Amino acid sequence: MELRTFAGGLHPPDSKQYSAHKAIENCPLPEELIIPAAQHIGAPAEICVAVGDQVKKGTVIANPKGFVSVPVHASTSGEVIAVEPRLHPSGRLLPAVVIKADGKDEWDESLSGSDPDQLDADSLKKMLCAAGIVGLGGATFPTHVKLSPPADKPIDTLILNGVECEPFLTADHRLMLEESERIIDGVKILLKILGISKAVIGIEANKPDAIAKLTQDCAPHGIAVQALEVKYPQGAEKQLIDAITGRQVPSGGLPMDCGVVVQNVGTAAAISDAIRLGHPLVERIATVTGPGIKEPKNLKIAIGTPLSHLVEYCGGLNGEPGKIIMGGPMMGQTQLSLEAPAIRGTSGLLIFGKEQISTKPAGPCLRCGRCITVCPIHLQPTTIATYARLELVDEAENYNALDCIECGCCTYICPASLPLVQSIRHIKGGIMAKRRKS
Ligand code: SF4
Ligand code: SF4
Repeated sequence: MELRTFAGGLHPPDSKQYSAHKAIENCPLPEELIIPAAQHIGAPAEICVAVGDQVKKGTVIANPKGFVSVPVHASTSGEVIAVEPRLHPSGRLLPAVVIKADGKDEWDESLSGSDPDQLDADSLKKMLCAAGIVGLGGATFPTHVKLSPPADKPIDTLILNGVECEPFLTADHRLMLEESERIIDGVKILLKILGISKAVIGIEANKPDAIAKLTQDCAPHGIAVQALEVKYPQGAEKQLIDAITGRQVPSGGLPMDCGVVVQNVGTAAAISDAIRLGHPLVERIATVTGPGIKEPKNLKIAIGTPLSHLVEYCGGLNGEPGKIIMGGPMMGQTQLSLEAPAIRGTSGLLIFGKEQISTKPAGPCLRCGRCITVCPIHLQPTTIATYARLELVDEAENYNALDCIECGCCTYICPASLPLVQSIRHIKGGIMAKRRKS
């Protein structure tokens, strides 16, 4: 099969051998779950329960605020024992609901599923919003918003993202192998909502078993599977669209600007559950892995499970951790402790030992140009980072800093160990602040 890809990018070791062969296990519930109100891009939800309230699995505990927002639900049955700021994976103290599990894990009786064939597109989107469905690839953008392009942006192609190009992570790989029927059902619901018939699932060639399984299972449904070259960041939306359709998302634009909607395979599976079973997004698959973990695993976890509980279930730590990351090593968020909970965007928990962490100090730029060669957006990372260090906001903006997808390729390849993506992220904040003021 022809392998497609995009220009730029790089090949870090994929390090998936720790967990790729491990079947998904159900992680037991912790005694207490910490469920933040802020778990998606857009306005955080507003907490609507109080200490002492009894909740069931799927009960709404925070209501959406505005169109670009979704509700948050209890991930198990039990009692609300605190409503207070708690450590969030972002590193900040943010409002959260703490639930003491009653051990029954009973679903809210008011929840019920529907036959998607009996519902129109608007009703399906309302159900997805009510179920709190967001992009599970890590971006956590509310799905009902992504499925509502304006009339002047016609969509003709749905792309399912099964790439999982971040090293170490294997949750989507296992989901494709073990639960393809949920993914396919979700794809069919998405096609109905979009009113189109073309869907392509993109999978990197380092998952030949998933490519074979989905090719076979999708064939009767007219859904195509496209094998892709193993290259980071093949799973970024713009790079995936380029590889599969040859279309370019314009600078500052969105996939809808070239007629495409992209959804993660895990999101498709969650969409099937939300419509057919009426189950909100209260659990997800995540990979707990890395040389710092005794028994790496792929786990089905309840949203709100403390990271320390995941580590404990995976046999504990291999010595003192050198670095804890939520997500993958390239785009994940560094964690200061294991106190924070897993949230909807938690695709993995990656732990390195001290000996795996580079302590090489940053040196002066060698003008080697490698960062420019690997940038998948064709930016000049070294120039933008220099402007960032000098706080030259206008100059960085003129070099299209806002187009940076923060993939980390430039930082990874830099022989001078310069923190390029960190500098660019900083100046992007400055550009956005300037735009808000003017
Ligand atoms: S500048 Fe941004 S998009 Fe380009 S390689 Fe660096 S992090 Fe990735
Ligand atoms: S990769 Fe590093 S050393 Fe080379 S040009 Fe870019 S910033 Fe300079």
